[in-house]
Amino acid sequence: MTSVLRGLFTAGLILFVWAGISRFERRSDRTDIPRTSAALPEPGHSKSAAHLVERDGRREVLLTTEFRGLCVDVRTDCEVDVREYADLADRLLPRLREWFAPERAPDPLAPRYTLFLCSSVECMLEVERLSGEPPSDFPGRSFAFRGGFYSRSRMVVAENRPTAWMRASLAHELTHAAFFERVGRNADVFDEGLACLLPDWLLETTSGAPQDQDASDERFETRCGTAVGEARPLRLAWLCGLDYWAFRDEQLDGLGFASSWALMKLLVESREPGIGGHMQALFDDLAAGGKPLEALGRQCDRAQLERRWLECMRGWSVWEAAWGSWRDTGNEWTTTLEGWGSHVLVARSRVPDKGFELGFTWHTPPTEGIGLGFVVGLRKGGNLCSIEVREGALRVILCRDGEWQLEQVTRLPDELVLDCQPVSLRCEPDGRASVRIGSEAFALPGLDADEVDGDCGLAVFRQPTAPRRVVAEVEISSPWFEQ
Ligand SMILES: [Zn+2]
Repeated sequence: MTSVLRGLFTAGLILFVWAGISRFERRSDRTDIPRTSAALPEPGHSKSAAHLVERDGRREVLLTTEFRGLCVDVRTDCEVDVREYADLADRLLPRLREWFAPERAPDPLAPRYTLFLCSSVECMLEVERLSGEPPSDFPGRSFAFRGGFYSRSRMVVAENRPTAWMRASLAHELTHAAFFERVGRNADVFDEGLACLLPDWLLETTSGAPQDQDASDERFETRCGTAVGEARPLRLAWLCGLDYWAFRDEQLDGLGFASSWALMKLLVESREPGIGGHMQALFDDLAAGGKPLEALGRQCDRAQLERRWLECMRGWSVWEAAWGSWRDTGNEWTTTLEGWGSHVLVARSRVPDKGFELGFTWHTPPTEGIGLGFVVGLRKGGNLCSIEVREGALRVILCRDGEWQLEQVTRLPDELVLDCQPVSLRCEPDGRASVRIGSEAFALPGLDADEVDGDCGLAVFRQPTAPRRVVAEVEISSPWFEQ
């Protein structure tokens, strides 16, 4: 697939998956609702096509059309190519089973699943009811019902949608099925994280393993990046501590799914010894009853994992070019300086009252005379502050009512290394500010953060004393904005 096509395909897929995932649910871990056995429906009771039949001594829920595949049965009351979805499931399930349990020989008695592709929510609820599952249509839910995987009934219930959406959601739900086969229970952070991560590998490749991928998902990345700037402390203990309902609560706007996706991406793809290569040990731990947070602590270096996870999410913060044009190449942002002006990349968030940190990793360009720094208070007509690292000094320059004024100059130590170092600006809630370069911190008494209001951003510029004005490529990496 060409990269353009792949991009288009991925974009479409993400859209469809996201549309459903944040509202997807599984029912098998809903312990707060009593399980009841299904009553046989009265003839003519239901307007949907779902009905019960006796087959080989068992009650089966049927819809109007059925196709029996190798590993799954597909049943629908819609005009869809049931064979296509059965074939897809028959291709995906063996790959999932092999990845989840590579040591296990293919099991001829492995569970067989039924995929219900329904024309309406009413039909989905009827399939659920006839299968003896507790009802999903009760008042006060914290998120909308969109079907899902039912481990007890070994079924996936989904509302029929366009093909790309259906393929993505089947890959998602079948991942839940394979996870349940391996671990024997649900563990949202792992379960949902993997069900969001693995479809990329399952649908876009036909071989290899997810650990060889570099999965990307714009919606998950954006959600994580935005969350880093929110007041909620993003910690593994918080994520792992969410219960079934809190994880899916619409008020989280998909953050449970997005940050679990990011965590699984790290655990699956990382080559760092404390982080990557432990999935089988983690599955064993979870299968033995380990809680997700404790299993992470036992099988990985939890502190290192948490640090990397936050770094990853910080790298997905939402940035936009304010002055000059910037190119986003993954975690790197590059811009081309031609004239004398500054190029500014802005965190799409206003200067918060509660204090914040803004930072990036600097790569010294081969061209001499390039400065770097921060701009705080980008707002029409407001005060603006520029914090500049240039010519061996740290300068705070304030623009009050259109007048630029140098407030502070701090000489930097001669031995201070800038290249490949994290450079950050920290503003405390009481207005105090400091700049950190590598492990060195410098107070900024000349900047009173209370005086400025507006957006804040990172800046690169040609120093006024630069000897030549040659075209310069400037790169910064992993910019972050944290509250
Ligand atoms: Zn799910």
